[in-house]
Amino acid sequence: MEKISVVIPCYNEEEAIPLFYQEISKIIENLKKKITFELIFVNDGSKDKTLIKIRDLARKDKKVRYISFSRNFGKEAAMLAGLEYATGDYVTTMDVDLQDPPYLLEEMLRLIKEEGYDCVATKSTSRNGYSFFRKFCTKWYYRIIGTISKTEMVAGARDFRLMTRQMVDAIISMKEYNRYSKGLFSFVGFDTKWIEFENQERIAGTTKWNFWKLFSYALNGITAFSTAPLVLSAIIGILFCFIAFIMIMIIILKTLIWGDAVSGWPSLACIVFLVGGIQLFCTGIIGQYLAKTYLEVKHRPIYIIKETEKM
Ligand code: UDP
Ligand code: MG
Repeated sequence: MEKISVVIPCYNEEEAIPLFYQEISKIIENLKKKITFELIFVNDGSKDKTLIKIRDLARKDKKVRYISFSRNFGKEAAMLAGLEYATGDYVTTMDVDLQDPPYLLEEMLRLIKEEGYDCVATKSTSRNGYSFFRKFCTKWYYRIIGTISKTEMVAGARDFRLMTRQMVDAIISMKEYNRYSKGLFSFVGFDTKWIEFENQERIAGTTKWNFWKLFSYALNGITAFSTAPLVLSAIIGILFCFIAFIMIMIIILKTLIWGDAVSGWPSLACIVFLVGGIQLFCTGIIGQYLAKTYLEVKHRPIYIIKETEKM
């Protein structure tokens, strides 16, 4: 019989793990005539009892496998580790907080097996439970990245998706250090069916993302999938050279006609500040790309495993 691997990244999720296990077990029971399951919990360097909870489950249930990192490497690293560890014919990644409803798996499996899709992805239709500020930033972020990136980014897309082995192999063949899954999923192509569901509130625990973590993740998405900011800084440079040229002409003509060379220093100071600021801004953009390149060329491991169920 075929097998689905469920990859579940967990960071400080001691409260959510038992509830998640309970829910997914119901689905496994419902589908047991059609397909078998393996659950791969990835402990992303949690500081609470997450690992103990996972070890307990692995001892009781043969379907449960796990990887435990030596420290917190982030959700992207945890997802990659899980995808690499998975042995199933189909693989799905799910949040442990039940914001990705497991009941959808049945329909997702049907779409892949009967309608021939390579991947069934989910997006949430609402963003209930998120602050107004976060909703606002997210909306604009997707607008901007949608314009400047050739890779399609779907607004509201979740990392919850069911993929065939072929697609999973394509994803893990991309070994980049600065990982941005929403982009990677889209980059590999394959026929993807989108299904929608109402946003769910977290069942237990708290969100692991604060504003700065999200902000830097968002920047990562832009630098990983677009070089438009570099072009923008070059365009700003050209524009300012052009403005400067016109200003020089005006000043030369003015001096020749009225002979007035001294007045006008306040405007000069303003221009020096403005141009200086823009130069720093553009250097900053280039610096972002350079920094990412620096991290890539070091070829550091994306995650380090300390323990698995086999150890
Ligand atoms: N997560 C992780 N490592 C991290 C942060 C989060 O493995 O550094 C996991 C977390 O345990 C959860 C999933 O990623 O299963 C999504 O995180 P969360 O629910 O906090 O994000 P939100 O739903 O608020 O965007
Ligand atoms: Mg969540």
